Amino acid sequence: MNVHEYQAKEIFAKYGVAIPRGFVANTPKEAVENAKKLGGKIWVVKAQIHAGGRGLGGGVKLARSLEEVEQLASEILGMTLVTHQTGPEGKLVKKVYIEEGVDIADELYLGVVLDRAKEMPVIMASTEGGMAIEEVASKTPEKIIKVAVDPAIGFQGFHGRALAFGLGLKKEEMGNFIKFASALYSVYMENDAELIEINPLVKTGKGDFIALDGKMGFDDSALYRHADIEAMRDESEEDASEREAAQYGLSYIKLDGSVGCMVNGAGLAMGTMDTINYVGGTPANFLDVGGKANAQTVAKGFEIILQDPNVKSIFVNIFGGIVRCDRIASGILEATKLVDVKVPVIVRLDGTNAPEAAEILKSANIANVISASDLEDGAKKAVAAAKGEL
Ligand code: ADP
Ligand code: MG
Repeated sequence: MNVHEYQAKEIFAKYGVAIPRGFVANTPKEAVENAKKLGGKIWVVKAQIHAGGRGLGGGVKLARSLEEVEQLASEILGMTLVTHQTGPEGKLVKKVYIEEGVDIADELYLGVVLDRAKEMPVIMASTEGGMAIEEVASKTPEKIIKVAVDPAIGFQGFHGRALAFGLGLKKEEMGNFIKFASALYSVYMENDAELIEINPLVKTGKGDFIALDGKMGFDDSALYRHADIEAMRDESEEDASEREAAQYGLSYIKLDGSVGCMVNGAGLAMGTMDTINYVGGTPANFLDVGGKANAQTVAKGFEIILQDPNVKSIFVNIFGGIVRCDRIASGILEATKLVDVKVPVIVRLDGTNAPEAAEILKSANIANVISASDLEDGAKKAVAAAKGEL
């Protein structure tokens, strides 16, 4: 689950991670009231959507008067903001954050992310903060300093110093920076975050460090122990199909290809997507129906996959271990009666009772249900069907 910038900053503040003062607003009028509450002469009006790159997309603007705050808030609220992270369809802006303008001496980058290979959280820092960190990561990766923190020992002074030296900070800046990084590590660990990104982390004229932006993602499996974070969920920012799938115990992630996938087990689902790519196609989704593949889950899976208009064929790739293939074959046939499946369905079933399953599918003789002998054969048929070449 992700949260908005203003919510990430609320969490930061609880841990003493410095942020600019700011208030969220739903209307231009509220935006002006917030600016008055903040005082000062410069404010920043910031679109709140679950995506980065807002500045380059025109969703972060500086205002030098209350009139300008009102003007900018009315322009940004209700706009469809397109950034490199939203996709071409963009995201509707429903809230803006009004923040005090900060005196920026230097823009750095600081993030914490789980490194699955190291099995530890890794803190990343760079002097190249600002709006194009993705470019830094791909063109000059040596400019990103990475320090892994073993959770058994937690954040220590030497981690902080490695980061501070890597950033080339002055001696008198180190103390402040290390305190900041240590507090950020606590935010990450204590809230079961998966990712925190501060871009830019700003060094002010006075040598203080402030989180000017804040992005946080959380481990969904740990949300049950963070009711306060769960309460921050903004369903309107999430994919409707993914939410519906979760309600039925299916893990579904929408992608942008044309071959719908229905698979049991996350590993096999990944392998299926790879194989589709390997034979020249593109998967439309990841879908793990889990251990209980039956007529109902398969029907729901078809329904969810078919909500995506890009889907031109469906590849059902199920391994019958605990669930028997003959049961799944009957389930698929039943599901095609429950849901109007207009695209070709390629079925590869292997494992317990696979020959019986093949027999069931063959004798049902449904025109758009096509059997495959193995994974590669299934992927090839599904890709050909998606291209209208089967
Ligand atoms: P995004 O990463 O989505 O583009 P940011 O919050 O990083 O959004 O804002 C983009 C840029 O706007 C920042 O790099 C910074 O230069 C400027 N900015 C953002 N907030 C403030 C602020 N409170 N004061 C001054 N400048 C700001
Ligand atoms: Mg940013």
